[in-house]
Amino acid sequence: MVSDNALLHIEKIREDFPILHQKINGQPLVYLDNAASTQKPRLVLDAITDYYQTINSNIHRGVHLLSQKATDAYELSREKVRAHLNAEKAHEIIFTRGVTESINLVASSLGKGLIKKGDEILISALEHHSNIVPWQFLCAQSGAILKVIPMNEKGELLLEAYRSLLSDKTKFVAINHVSNALGTVNPVKEMIAQAHDVGAWVLIDGAQSVPHMPVDVQALDADFYTFSAHKIYGPTGIGALYGKEHLLELLPPYQGGGEMISTVTFEESTYAGLPHKFEAGTPNIEAGVVLGTAIDYVHALGLENIAAYEQELLRYAHQKMSAFEGMEFYGTAQHKASVISFNLKGIHPYDVGVILDKLGIAVRTGHHCAQPIMDFYNIPGTIRASFAFYNTKEEVEILLKGLAKARAMLS
Ligand code: PMP
Repeated sequence: MVSDNALLHIEKIREDFPILHQKINGQPLVYLDNAASTQKPRLVLDAITDYYQTINSNIHRGVHLLSQKATDAYELSREKVRAHLNAEKAHEIIFTRGVTESINLVASSLGKGLIKKGDEILISALEHHSNIVPWQFLCAQSGAILKVIPMNEKGELLLEAYRSLLSDKTKFVAINHVSNALGTVNPVKEMIAQAHDVGAWVLIDGAQSVPHMPVDVQALDADFYTFSAHKIYGPTGIGALYGKEHLLELLPPYQGGGEMISTVTFEESTYAGLPHKFEAGTPNIEAGVVLGTAIDYVHALGLENIAAYEQELLRYAHQKMSAFEGMEFYGTAQHKASVISFNLKGIHPYDVGVILDKLGIAVRTGHHCAQPIMDFYNIPGTIRASFAFYNTKEEVEILLKGLAKARAMLS
């Protein structure tokens, strides 16, 4: 029996996700690893088959009908991403493999002459490795300096320190909207405005925000914003990078190849306009098309409803888990998304994860691709339960029972 919510009919929603109705190690699956990747509704699964059964062909270059249909479907999906982020123009949406590729694209293009020795790039103490390493590459290549906005024990960025790091040397700021490891929601609108005051451009890593809350890139005034489809109930291998038109025009191409050119001779090539300039080669067409279907699905539920329900679930889980003996939370920011990172006193997170798995409960254990955060707390890792709208209060209870079992076996 599943508790319903005033906004969403959770029991009915769960019917949309075939994978949730299986047993893992003989127990009903409790999937609490949504920050790593979300499950896919039947609508999305059907759209994948439908694409291959009806319109599969290469896009943008065929005169035949299938190619035109596949192109139209792919471009319709771009329009859905535009609307989802409230970008002004569809060609400000670049399809990439996901957040990792988007950040590599921006960092690598900036490295072709736009960032110079002595320029400063700011990231934060809360970043995923994919928003650290590409900037280290860029600094190594250009002589720019990487600086880090610090955080407090609660996992909140220190905004005073941020303001004092900003100067006319700051050329770029790259921060996440929501931390995958701790769930902190960062005040990105305010931080973007402050970066703009010193003339810096800002990229927001929206991997953990776009699936859980409405995002409006124009209201935020973000220069770049990126997300991955697999975290918003869509396929893997596709994501999007939003960039303001005039900035995308300024950036040199990322990869060379077919699709991204206007003319090619052996002496020189000229490049296609946006968005194709950044989309070399045959893309993941099916995933691009189906990303649009995933966006339709979350819109039918309503992003506001999803956010409200997940907040309710987060409060419930936090309250119940607070009463659990030996519970140590990491990340207790005032504004949080539906991620709870924790350890059981004196027990290695990995050992807890293995026992929970035997009970059918999927959580993440480890550093969550955010090793500097673990170093900050001086721990090897955490156990992370991350919730989606198909999770229930009953599943929180099952998690607690599993934790009690793990504690009894391991302490
Ligand atoms: N940033 C954040 C905050 C993330 O949570 C993730 C995925 N865990 C990424 C970046 C990387 O996303 P992807 O692996 O889909 O490129």
